[in-house]
Amino acid sequence: MEDKVVAVNFQEVPWLQKDYHELLMRFKGQKPPHALMLYGKEGVGKVCLADALVSGILCRELKDGLPCGVCQSCRWIASGFHPDLYEIKGEAEIKVDEIRNIQQFARLTPETGKKVVVIKHADRMNLNAANSLLKVLEEPPTDLFFILESSSIEKLPITVRSRCQDYFVHAPSVEEALFFLQDLTVKKGQQINAEVLRLLLAISFDAPFKALSYLEDNYLEKRGNLLQTIHDLLSREISPAKGVAALLESEDLSFSYLFFLLTSSFEEARRSLFPNLEAIFMILLNMPEKMRLLQYEKLVEINRLRSSQTRTDWALEAWFVDFLG
Ligand SMILES: [Zn+2]
Repeated sequence: MEDKVVAVNFQEVPWLQKDYHELLMRFKGQKPPHALMLYGKEGVGKVCLADALVSGILCRELKDGLPCGVCQSCRWIASGFHPDLYEIKGEAEIKVDEIRNIQQFARLTPETGKKVVVIKHADRMNLNAANSLLKVLEEPPTDLFFILESSSIEKLPITVRSRCQDYFVHAPSVEEALFFLQDLTVKKGQQINAEVLRLLLAISFDAPFKALSYLEDNYLEKRGNLLQTIHDLLSREISPAKGVAALLESEDLSFSYLFFLLTSSFEEARRSLFPNLEAIFMILLNMPEKMRLLQYEKLVEINRLRSSQTRTDWALEAWFVDFLG
């Protein structure tokens, strides 16, 4: 699964501002947390919030609680290298070596008076890495803060979780998320039809940063073909093998669409928001409800195994063959 890092100005993310100020106060207070765990749904902006907190914690001249942008610390952040920051991006499995480096980092004298370790996608730590982190968390060095981020907190060992202060990051409301997407795309010079944005947000499970990563991945060009392929598959106009091959060219997006279409087939209120998809919904609604439920469960399982199984194409093809009988 891809994790595109979407560059967004933090102050343009309205629903995270309260979280930011509340958390920054904790770090600047008398009893700052040694380790903070930001958790919640994927794509609500936890990574963006973690980055903002780091800048805020390390800035020497906060202005209204926000990083000043001009002090040495802020300039280091902008340059991409800060001597008091050790960041693990968690783009792939996090191995023990990356965690062991923290011990060396902990021994350095901070330039700004504090040091921060950030571990994004912390649930990607393997067992050795998690055990190694636990050792540091058990005897936290002074002046060193940990910020962990995870969309699958349940995958982390309870021993690690119990050493962290949990903080749940809420998703914005649908309207708030839509406004944010609209505002951002307009600023980038893109005029996107409201219904298109609404659908993009819906297939992103209302997670705006997920929606943004799809946009950056040429969503606008892909969506038409993709919907046509799904329509043609379901109406038996193309073979499952051919259709699935086309779908898997945009694997994440295709799974998102299939989940969205299936779940919406159970909710009339949701379907009515997307008149353009009526033809696909009609085909789905002609299939028995029980069957749609069963297919939904099977799709969840295929999706779960996507990163570990080698032949997602076979599994998805078999899924369509089952569905179409
Ligand atoms: Zn600053």
